[in-house]
Formats: sequence, C-alpha cells, structure tokens
Amino acid sequence: MKNTLKLSLQELVFDNRFIDRLPADPVLKNSRRQVKNACFSFVEPTKVSNPSLVVASTEMLEELNLDKQLMHDDEFIQLFVGNKLLPGMSAYAMCYGGHQFGNWAGQLGDGRAIILGDVITQNNKRWSLQLKGAGPTPYSRTADGLAVLRSSLREFLCSEAMFHLGVPTTRALTLALTGEKVVRDMFYDGHLENELGAVVCRVAPSFTRFGNFQILSAQNDVNNLKKLLDYTIETDFPHLNLSDENSYLTWFKEVCTTTADMVIHWMRVGFVHGVMNTDNMSILGLTIDYGPYGWLEDYDPGWTPNTTDANGRRYRFENQSEIALWNLLQLAEAIYPLINDTAPLEKILQHYRDYYQQQWNNMMAAKLGFAHSSGEIEKLISKLFKLLEEIETDMTLFFRGLSELELVELDIMDDLILHGIFDKAWYRSEQVDEYYLTQFKSWLRSYKECAVASNLSELDRKQQMNKVNPKYVLRNYLAQQAIDKANEGDYSMVHELLDVLRKPYDDQPEKEIYSAKRPEWARHRAGCSMLSCSS
Ligand code: AMP
Ligand code: MG
Repeated sequence: MKNTLKLSLQELVFDNRFIDRLPADPVLKNSRRQVKNACFSFVEPTKVSNPSLVVASTEMLEELNLDKQLMHDDEFIQLFVGNKLLPGMSAYAMCYGGHQFGNWAGQLGDGRAIILGDVITQNNKRWSLQLKGAGPTPYSRTADGLAVLRSSLREFLCSEAMFHLGVPTTRALTLALTGEKVVRDMFYDGHLENELGAVVCRVAPSFTRFGNFQILSAQNDVNNLKKLLDYTIETDFPHLNLSDENSYLTWFKEVCTTTADMVIHWMRVGFVHGVMNTDNMSILGLTIDYGPYGWLEDYDPGWTPNTTDANGRRYRFENQSEIALWNLLQLAEAIYPLINDTAPLEKILQHYRDYYQQQWNNMMAAKLGFAHSSGEIEKLISKLFKLLEEIETDMTLFFRGLSELELVELDIMDDLILHGIFDKAWYRSEQVDEYYLTQFKSWLRSYKECAVASNLSELDRKQQMNKVNPKYVLRNYLAQQAIDKANEGDYSMVHELLDVLRKPYDDQPEKEIYSAKRPEWARHRAGCSMLSCSS
C-alpha cells in the first residue's frame, strides 16, 4: 500500500547495518591505501563550493516518502552533494576487488562513491543512498574521486530510463553541479579539458558487488567472507533461510538466475553495458555503474560502445550472457572456501546456459507477440536476425514497426506499405532492394503462419508486442544532445528526455522526434557512437 504521508529530511529513518555488522577498516585517515580484512572504510564526502541542482527524480523522492518541494531547499542540495550529513547517516566507502577485462585487478573499491546510509521506508523497503563523485576515498588509487556533468547525466538519465523500461537497475535520486571544475582527458589523447564537476546520488537496495566477495577471498579471509555472505543473505535475500544447510548454494543459484534475467532484459531493449567487469556486477542482478554503455541502433550483435574495448570487444552486445556466466564463475570461486565442494557449484553454473536459453526464447517470442516459444517460432527468430543484420536496421524501430503491420493484409501488401512502416527503421534506403524485400516478405509470411497456428489475434499481437518493445530508449545521440545543452546551462532537454522516457512503451505522438533513428551526423560523432571510460 502506498503511504501518502510525506516526510521531512530529518524524519528519514536510517538503518546502517552494513557498517554495524561487518568489519571496518580501522584507519580513519582519508589516504589512498590497501585495506585488508575489512568490508569498508569510513570516509567523509569532500565539501564543494557552490552546489546547484540539475535534476531530481520525482519517482525516487516519492519512493522515499519525501515531498517533491524539498528539492528546492538549500538543505536538500547541500545534502546530496555531500556538504552536510543528516543525523543517522554514516558515510563510508566499500572495499571490493574485481576482474577487469578478464584480468584480476586486486583491490578496486568505491574510489569515488560514498554511501551515506540506508533509508528504511514506511513500506519497510531498504534504500541505500550513495554519492558518486563526492571526492576521494581510500580506494581512489591514482584518480581524483570526482565525476563530470557529461557522465553523471548519462548515469542519471539511463538508470531512470531503465527503471521505467522494467529493467532491474540501481536508481538515481539527484544530479547536482558542485560549482567546481574537473579536468578530464575525454579520449585519453592528451587533450585536457576543464569540465563541470557533478555528483549523482544513486539509490539501490544494496550496492554489494561480486567484487566485495572476491576481495576477501583473495585475502584468504574466510572468516569475514562468511560474515559478508551471512549478512547479504539476511539483509538482501530475507526470503532465504540462513539456517538451512544449503543456504549458500540456494543463494548462489538465485544470483545466477537474477543475473541471467537482467541480461535478458538488456537483450530485449538493446542495451550494451560496456564494462561488465566483476566489480560492476550487482549481487542483486541490478544494472550498475553506467559508464561507456550504449543502445543498439542498427542491429549489430558485435557492437560495443566502449572504445577501451574496441579491439577484443569482450563486452559486445551478443557476448553479454557469456560474460555474465564468466563473472558468476569468478563469484563461485570466491565463495568456494565456504562450500568446499566444486560439484554443486558447477551444477548450478551448468544450469545457467539452459535457463538463459529458455528465457531468451520466451523473451524473443514475446517480442513477436507470442505467449510461448516453440520450435517454429525459434526458427522464425533466427531467420529474423539474419535479415536484421543483412541491412542496417534499427532494432527498436523494427519491432515497433512490426506491431503496426496488418498481417491479415499481407497477401495484398505492396512495397509502399512496407516502406511506409519500415523506412523509419532502415538506415540506408539503397540497401532495401527487390531481393531484400522478397526475403523480408517471405519471412513475414512465415510469421503470419506462426501467428495463425498460435491463434494469435492481430489485436493481441499488437498489444503484447507494445508491452515489451519500447518505442523510446535513451538513444546515444539524444543523450549527447542533452549533455551538450546542459554544458551550456540549458537543462530543458534533460527534463524533456526524462519525461518521455517515463513512458517508453506508449505512443507519444507529440514526442515522436525522440523515437527517431540516429541521424547521419551522429554516425561517427564522439559520445554518439563511441565512448571512453573517462568520466
Ligand atoms: P569503473 O570501471 O568505472 O567501474 O571503475 C573502476 C574502479 O575505478 C572503481 O574502483 C572506481 O571506483 C574507480 N574509479 C573510476 N573513476 C574514478 C575517479 N575519477 N576517481 C576515483 N576512482 C575512480
Ligand atoms: Mg565500477
């Protein structure tokens, strides 16, 4: 039940059990260091000179039972850039390690993220508040602990867009400018620029990552590894019974399932994470750490937006499921000392591929409007992907177009109708030749046969398809346009996009331009087609 009673900031209830129950780094000085046998370090955010709010998520404010008007208060802004803490808050950075691009990188940790505390809402939900870009921590290594407006906007907009798309994700409450400049070399090519410093307040039930377990395991700290796993099960998986002798395995199986589910959602909406390192894998199967991510425009399974990954393309669209499995294997290795038996862990990992394949078949069937998958539908899907790859076809617009098409009229359908619907999705008209159209029509006839065999009415097909095929996604060029304007102090497009992306499955006739395929000017423009990790 939604509670309508609105709270002031002082009335927020905090329960910081991560720091109450888990071992702290005993050193209190904020100096960069290796931290041993601890899950976190206490650290205060760095104060900033002239903070101002760029945007706040009204849905997230509501979730915390906070009055929307609060966002205009000075105290609110001071709080969410880290200039002030509320009673009950206790600021800390998490210690974790991770595999980056397949190699063990040792200690990483929250180098520019500081958790303020966990709010417990009136509906008894836990929401951890975390500032990203609020200054250095013991885990900052050689970097500055800061973030710039460009990457912060990408994180804010995308995490809220993903939420509205129904994709499991961390959330964003606020984005504020610090009033300070931050130096960045955006393409690591020696061009230093002063950019606007910014802080995002991210929100999630938990920010624990695979890497939190990995670092303790790498230190052979089995005692604290057990503490962390017991804490995680009790706090983040309260439906599991810790006293059950198989609870660790049950937990691991659930992490495998929720991780697979998350990737299936990414594949459904055409999202490429870009940096699926094990430190960027949430224990709750949430999309976390929005860096050089991107949205598929023309359907290209080999695409990655991340320039740092341009050679190996480890994190390309089609590889995300296998990388998730590889990351789960690293998590299994990390918790192995608590299980001391490889067979049950291997069995769970072996099940991952079958589960993923089954869910993928169901998801793809749903994208075509079917309630269930079948052998025939699977064949249809694999033929479809060949067609989509053959000429540059926008994935999002193709599926929306397909739902507009009247299959019953297929026999009398002429090329003009197909052009009328799919020109929106085809990037290069010269590729749509007679040969291609003949193949496409043949595929459409098979599709129609499957629909007839499944007793799928046209109305049901369209309605089902429009629930899973978004019309609006945060296209890379749109995000870049909003960033360019925001850098000039104009936040109108940020608000426009946030608004459109609240209802990504609805036709919003007056917002049609935000569904348009990437214009030619954006094909090779930095920020629109490729991104570096610089943020
Ligand atoms: P990422 O690949 O962006 O998730 O970051 C990998 C690691 O680098 C994490 O430990 C981050 O906290 C850290 N990191 C990234 N950028 C910065 C920064 N500007 N200052 C401090 N640490 C950072
Ligand atoms: Mg990260």
